[in-house]
Parts: sequence; C-alpha cells; structure tokens
Amino acid sequence: MLRLASTRTPLAQIAARHVPALRAPAFTSMPRLYSTANEELDLVVIGGGPGGYVAAIKAAQLGLKTACIEKRGALGGTCLNVGCIPSKAMLNNSHIYHQTQHDLKNRVDSVSLNLPVMLKAKTTAVTGLTKGIETLFKKNKVAYHKGTGKFLSANQIEVTGLDGTVSTLNAKNVLIATGSVPSGFPGIDIDEKQIVTSTGALDLQEVPKKMVVIGAGVIGLELGSVWSRLGAEVTVVEYLGAVGAGMDSDMAKAFHRTLTKQGFKFKLSTKVIGTEKLADGRVGVKVEAAKGGNQETLEADVVLVSIGRKPYTEGLGLENIGIQVDERGRIPIDSEFRTSVPNVRCIGDVTYGAMLAHKAEEEGIAAVEYINGGHGHVNYDVIPSVIYTHPEVAWCGKSEDDVKKSGVAYRVGTFPFAANSRARTNADSEGMVKIISDKETDRVLGIHIMGPNAGEMIAEGVLAMEYGASSEDIARTCHAHPTLSEAFKEAAMATYDKPIHF
Ligand SMILES: Cc1cc2nc3c(=O)[nH]c(=O)nc-3n(C[C@H](O)[C@H](O)[C@H](O)COP(=O)(O)OP(=O)(O)OC[C@H]3O[C@@H](n4cnc5c(N)ncnc54)[C@H](O)[C@@H]3O)c2cc1C
Repeated sequence: MLRLASTRTPLAQIAARHVPALRAPAFTSMPRLYSTANEELDLVVIGGGPGGYVAAIKAAQLGLKTACIEKRGALGGTCLNVGCIPSKAMLNNSHIYHQTQHDLKNRVDSVSLNLPVMLKAKTTAVTGLTKGIETLFKKNKVAYHKGTGKFLSANQIEVTGLDGTVSTLNAKNVLIATGSVPSGFPGIDIDEKQIVTSTGALDLQEVPKKMVVIGAGVIGLELGSVWSRLGAEVTVVEYLGAVGAGMDSDMAKAFHRTLTKQGFKFKLSTKVIGTEKLADGRVGVKVEAAKGGNQETLEADVVLVSIGRKPYTEGLGLENIGIQVDERGRIPIDSEFRTSVPNVRCIGDVTYGAMLAHKAEEEGIAAVEYINGGHGHVNYDVIPSVIYTHPEVAWCGKSEDDVKKSGVAYRVGTFPFAANSRARTNADSEGMVKIISDKETDRVLGIHIMGPNAGEMIAEGVLAMEYGASSEDIARTCHAHPTLSEAFKEAAMATYDKPIHF
C-alpha cells in the first residue's frame, strides 16, 4: 500500500505556536461586550457569513477579544439566508413532492402541492439556523454588531447600526469577509419577481408555467430543478457547450443526459442578447447561437439570471486604507490572507478562489490561526464541489480533462450505481463513480460522482485525497454492505485492478 508524505503543517506545530494568553473576560448578557470606543479589540470581523462568523467564533475560542459586524440583520450571510440553506430546503421538499407524485403514483391516492407550506418550511429552517449562530456567538463571547462596517483607518472601523446609531471599534486586526452578490446581466433589469436572481427564485409565490434559466452552472441547475419538479417547463440557456461550469466532461455529458430525461430543455452554445416585455405580460428572452446566427425568442413567465456572483465591497471604505480591488472586484491577498495592509486580512467569496461556503469557513479558521499563532492551513487541491440535484453530482481534485492537459500518465476506474445492490434496491441507480489516479504511484488525483447521496459520499474521497491515499488504499478498505459507498470502493478497485460486481 502506498503512503505519501502529507504536505500539511503538523497540527502540533500549529498548536505549539498559539499564544492563549489573551483570555476574554466572563460574558455578560450584553452582546456588545467589546464595543466601547476606547477599548482595543484583538479582531474585528466585517461580515457574518460562513467565512466571517466561523472566523469570529474560532478567534474567540483562541482567546482573542472579537467582534463581528453584520449588516443584514441576521447572521449566516448569503449561505444561510439566501443561498445554501434555503436552496437545499426547496430541493429536499420539491424532491419529496416529485418522488411521491411520480415514483409512488401507484401507491398513493393523490398528491397536491402546497407551495406556501413549502416556502414556510424553508423560512423556518433559515430562521432556526441563523438564530443558532447568534447563540453560538453568545456562548463563545463574540460581540455581535448589527450594522454596516466601514474602514476609517486600518485600525478603526465605523459601525452604522441598523437603528442608525454610529460608533467606532478599535482593532489590532481586521478580517474582511463581506462575501458576494449575484452578477447582473448587462441590459437586463432584475425585479426579483419576473426577472430574478437566485434570491427571487427562492421565493416565487407561484409555480411559473415556463421558466428560462440563463446559465447552466450549479445555482441555475439546482433552482431549475426545484421549479421543474414543481411543474415548470424549464429551458436553460448556456453560452458554453456543456453544463456544470467546468466539471469533468464525462460527468457533464452524463448529467446533461439525466437532466434532459427529467424534462429540462437545454440551449447550449447559445448566447442571450437581451429580454423584452411581451404583449401578454410575460418576458421574451432573445437568444442566438454563441457563434452568431438567427435570433430566436424564448417566452417565459419567470427568467432566472444565474451567470455567477461578484465580490462585494460596496461602502466598506477600502479607499480610506488604500486597498484596491482587482479587475474582477476581488480583494488581493497573500498566502496568509493578508491584504496590502498588513493587519487587515480577507477571506471567502470577496477574494480569490471558489465561491463556496466550506471554502470560506476553512479560510476563516486559517486566517485566525495565522493572526493568533502564525500558522494556518487550507488545502485548495481538495475543496469538494456538490450540485444538489437528483441525482447529486460531487467532485474533488482534478478532472480527467485537467490531468490529460497536465501530461501526467493516469488510470481511470469507474463503477455504475446500476451495479450497486443498495442503489438497485432503492430503485435509485442512475450515475457512477469515477476515480482518476497517477499511473506510476497510484495516488488519487481526482474523484467524480454522479449518483444518490454523492454529496455525502464525496467526503470519503476528500479524506482519502487529504491523506494522499492511493486507489488501492481505498479498494482495500472495508465498506459496509449494502451501502451506496460500495460503489466508491468498487470504482477504486476498477482504478487499480478490477471491480468484482461489474
Ligand atoms: C442560491 C445559492 C446556493 C448556494 N449553495 C451553496 C452550497 O450548497 N454550498 C456551498 O458551499 N456554497 C453555496 N453557495 C455559495 C455560498 O453561499 C457562498 O460561497 C458563501 O456564503 C460565502 O461566504 P462568505 O462568508 O464569504 O460571504 P457571504 O455569505 O456572502 O457573507 C458576507 C456577509 O457580509 C455582510 N456584509 C457585506 N458588507 C458588509 C459591511 N460593510 N458591513 C457589515 N456586513 C457586511 C453581508 O450582508 C453578508 O451577510 C450558494 C449560493 C447561492 C446564492
């Protein structure tokens, strides 16, 4: 069995460098414990999304006097309020509805949609979780400021509270975690009712008859799935020739076929020219082939613009401390998350890298560890990606296309869920696991899964890659029977030798 040396900083080394001297005083019922104008905080975090709130909790746990400023009136950022969580609530409930209506149609009498109840379940999940973070702040003694943070200087942050009061926080260190907002489409006006971003698409009050989704990336396909399952006729327009924004091309083709079978219509290699209001009140989306050609108008009750997200720094006062954003609006940082101003660091969607909640969280912890002890760790080679459709698609590491381009000799093993006993028993066997390993060392380079529970299964792949596993390591690890994860083991067997069940 192959074991390769880990490139990570040993945890003991990180721990030994921590200075747990700055203990916070006992917490009182007042959350603004560290907010007085003259007291200097160890850390002020601007933005209470998954990057910011996790960083704030970690900092307080390490004994740093910490405050977090959030202007939305609720913690959790995009993720909890208008992103990961509400979308997964809608995906889960729309899947149950669709499955009951279609897969169980001979076993249940009748199924009808109660959209207000479904939307309420989403709101309940969001509220419960955002309030939960407030509780975690209290438990960990993080001072929570509801308002907008703005740099007056590198050590002074002005807070304009939601109630209009203005105060100033003094800080040794500042962490910017202001996240991102949806990118608009030039010439298309978003009203969040008929022409919507993901935020509006999570709150439609009735099922549109026809929906046009601009962009076949993760968010477009997830929210397109929600409304398609609830009865909308969904057409996705994508400029590129494939769905899934850069996923392994075998998986992208399989995923495209699956979604088409589910009723999605795709217009790939097609560009959107603009929208117009139609006489009947609906919206016309003008499109033509990406290469140019005849124009066509797609009619829609609702248009979802999901062409990506952009970093958000509005009103932050970056100009007051001389930080300049790059051509894509991102705040430049070094490998220790430092901006051009040494005591100001930055993490999450507002800087480089994948716009993902778990990536922002990892960075939040690492940035705080750098502040506290001089060491932190994020392994950008194994940040998992998941599309929470049904089946789910999940991957980490390199795609086969990337490996091919790199010139490294490699092996590929695949295993279909159709040959997995649990998936067959559940009548849910669409998709496969694909593992790519280095031909010489057998070290796993990439893992790609389309199938039921792929988003949970990828965790095993991430762990394997984090420890530098070979495909043989995975193949020789005992997996419980009957589980979907046996497909993962068999794909590893197929990579280094042969599978048993296919
Ligand atoms: C529909 C949708 C679904 C998604 N699904 C997933 C998913 O399943 N998995 C996943 O990993 N990611 C998902 N994402 C992406 C994920 O939400 C983001 O990557 C993540 O929230 C980024 O975290 P962040 O902390 O960097 O920023 P954000 O979550 O954007 O938080 C930044 C916060 O800073 C606040 N803020 C900004 N400026 C100021 C200021 N000056 N003062 C005070 N506060 C300020 C904002 O109000 C915001 O709350 C999804 C996104 C969307 C839109």
